[in-house]
Amino acid sequence: MTRRWLFADQLGPHFLDEPGQPVLLVESKAVFRRRAFHRQKAHLVLSALRHRAAELKDQAHLVRAETYAEAVRATDSPLSVCHPTSRGARDLVRRLGVEVLAPRGFATSPQDFTAWAASRRGLRMEDFYRDARRRHGILMEGAEPAGGSWNLDADNREPPPRGARHLDVPDPPAITEDEIDHGVREDLDRWQRDDGIEFIGRDGPRMFPATRREALARLRHFVTHRLPIFGPYEDAMLAGDPLMAHSLLSAPLNLGLLDPLEVVERAEAAYRSGAAPLNSVEGFVRQIIGWRDFVWHLYWHFEPGYHRSNKLGATTPLPKWFAELDADAVEARCLSDVLAGVRDRGWVHHIPRLMVLGNYAMQRGWRPGAMADWFHRAFVDGYEWVMTANVVGMSQYADGGRMSTKPYAGGGSYVNRMSDYCGGCRYDPKVRVGEKACPFTAGYWAFLERNEAALSGNHRMGQPLRGLHRLTDLDALVEQEKARGSRAP
Ligand SMILES: Cc1cc2nc3c(=O)[nH]c(=O)nc-3n(C[C@H](O)[C@H](O)[C@H](O)COP(=O)(O)OP(=O)(O)OC[C@H]3O[C@@H](n4cnc5c(N)ncnc54)[C@H](O)[C@@H]3O)c2cc1C
Ligand code: SF4
Repeated sequence: MTRRWLFADQLGPHFLDEPGQPVLLVESKAVFRRRAFHRQKAHLVLSALRHRAAELKDQAHLVRAETYAEAVRATDSPLSVCHPTSRGARDLVRRLGVEVLAPRGFATSPQDFTAWAASRRGLRMEDFYRDARRRHGILMEGAEPAGGSWNLDADNREPPPRGARHLDVPDPPAITEDEIDHGVREDLDRWQRDDGIEFIGRDGPRMFPATRREALARLRHFVTHRLPIFGPYEDAMLAGDPLMAHSLLSAPLNLGLLDPLEVVERAEAAYRSGAAPLNSVEGFVRQIIGWRDFVWHLYWHFEPGYHRSNKLGATTPLPKWFAELDADAVEARCLSDVLAGVRDRGWVHHIPRLMVLGNYAMQRGWRPGAMADWFHRAFVDGYEWVMTANVVGMSQYADGGRMSTKPYAGGGSYVNRMSDYCGGCRYDPKVRVGEKACPFTAGYWAFLERNEAALSGNHRMGQPLRGLHRLTDLDALVEQEKARGSRAP
């Protein structure tokens, strides 16, 4: 049996062919020299790798080396690896002569995706998701979707409950750090002090599972206590409740500690036993075997140059306050709180990512590639394969509409409807011009004005563009937003 090289995002048992298989794990320092990652992300990845080595005992070689290539060249037995998750890593393993197996850790195989994609003109997540539900028999009643409907999104767009500061769900139990975590913390401190390696964000207690045991415990807790109200408040934000009823499972899923099908099967079992309603379970299943798998396959399906797409010609570099997560420099309450969340825990849920961080960057014309790199480094669950479709495509509309039918641009009214941020903000979401002009509202109109030519052929943008021409204060607004530029709002 060949020794199985496990990358740090391939740590679950499903990446081995049988329990006793010999394993190679590599801790490459060069990875951390190349990019300034969030300190808590570096901690999580190293902790997960070292915990896996400790679990496997003599079965695993954990090699600490500058580069992967050094570690592999020093290994005398033949190696096999499950298909890596980035083009760079795939090319590397090929160059090193390692046997490459099919990818694991996703619900749909490359063959099934290719066959599905070949049979249609446009690639829509909704179609892909329905196909995956049928193929895996998830939430199905014979050939029909459980409950008679494929999509319960209409039930899943509630604003936060009126007056609530926190959803009525228990937070996931805190993770107890151990000796391995203490060792990782000491090493990272030393790398920073003596080795010129830099991080962004603040250190803090490890919040995300680094072992399969911890990941299964989080999954169980989520399905029992949080899944029942996941659906309705999926898109809502509360300043005092950053987690809402989200699962916080993206990091363990992306480390390979959980398999997506086991996750959705547990959620489905909660529906079948009456413990969770269909809209919550369907919404969650859609995220995992729909969105997660879809963006994975698009990473490989789109041409390698896709990540450089920049159809809106956005060329402004990320400002320092944003790049360095300086939330205290920001007065806009929504942006400051979300940026603080990234700084303090390397995680915020999908709406702050899309409608606060991504939306603001797109409005200001920041470079999509720089945003993708930032998301990759600053989030505990950030990986190259997730960036392509989510950041370049969906959040920055840099592909001109291959991923989404219109830009995810929104003004303060969206934030106001879906959160409790605006009440305590020094800006007013209804004001476009002047001292209290909301940077999201004014930024939205300035974005439409700047990109009108590029967006005018899109029929879904007809109504907003007609609205733009009805604004009587557009000139003043455009001047104001030029002056605001990329300064911290
Ligand atoms: C601009 C932007 C950047 C993002 N960057 C990342 C990223 O770096 N890594 C990442 O895993 N997800 C990313 N996402 C998707 C999504 O925001 C996160 O997966 C989710 O917020 C993680 O929190 P959770 O585990 O509580 O998710 P939940 O809301 O509980 O959702 C359940 C699971 O569905 C999966 N999922 C849902 N949507 C997506 C999606 N669009 N792409 C991939 N997986 C999805 C995740 O595995 C997640 O754990 C991004 C989304 C946007 C809009
Ligand atoms: S008023 Fe504008 S800047 Fe302030 S919280 Fe609302 S959307 Fe954000």
